Amino acid sequence: MTNILSVRNLSKTYQSGHGSLAVLRDINFDVEEGSTTAIVGPSGSGKTTLLGLCAGLDRASGGSIVLNQQNLNELNEDERSLLRNQYVGFIFQNFQLLPTLTALENVMVPLELQQASNVKKRAMDLLEKVGLSERASHYPMQLSGGEQQRVSLARAFSNAPKILFADEPTGNLDAETGARVEKLLFDLNQEAGTTLILVTHDLELASKTQRIIHMKGGKLLENEG
Ligand code: ADP
Repeated sequence: MTNILSVRNLSKTYQSGHGSLAVLRDINFDVEEGSTTAIVGPSGSGKTTLLGLCAGLDRASGGSIVLNQQNLNELNEDERSLLRNQYVGFIFQNFQLLPTLTALENVMVPLELQQASNVKKRAMDLLEKVGLSERASHYPMQLSGGEQQRVSLARAFSNAPKILFADEPTGNLDAETGARVEKLLFDLNQEAGTTLILVTHDLELASKTQRIIHMKGGKLLENEG
């Protein structure tokens, strides 16, 4: 199998007024294309930081990340954003929808960035897929948390990503909505072969992935699966 992600000797240190904080140390792992992985571990162990680095949202302090055959260290900002627009989906913990845009317009943004054709129709189709076509003209503040999360899924699906990173995708949702979001994610993996990497506190969700990566204090503890 091909690795879609290879992480070697990765480290991340945040600088602040109080000095520097080493958040990730010497992280090594590979992810096979088409696989599902959960990253679990206590709060503050560096999971969100790791996810953001792997998705090219932030830069590492040391080591390397190869995503879809491209070494993120060697790419400039424009090349990294092109890589993200083409291959990567990201679902944020707090949804991060644009508050001044409707549900439909939020889903249209990445399609417009890719200069896709039939943007409005494709965005409607994506909203339909997550069961929200009737909410297309609503603004984020008029939607429940579960609905906002489903809009963010539709947005993340819009570029048919090869790899989807999701930070606590079911974290703020009730059980029924969480199950619905979970099904959408695993369906995407099954139907489109999208590689899934989830950060989660939910061990039941983690147990449904092929592999669990445990983190503690900025290090990987063990790999299973
Ligand atoms: P987790 O997702 O496991 O809860 P995070 O990656 O969010 O962990 O955070 C790991 C550590 O890095 C925490 O101590 C957090 O306070 C710190 N941290 C996260 N982001 C930043 C940042 N932008 N600047 C400074 N410190 C940060």
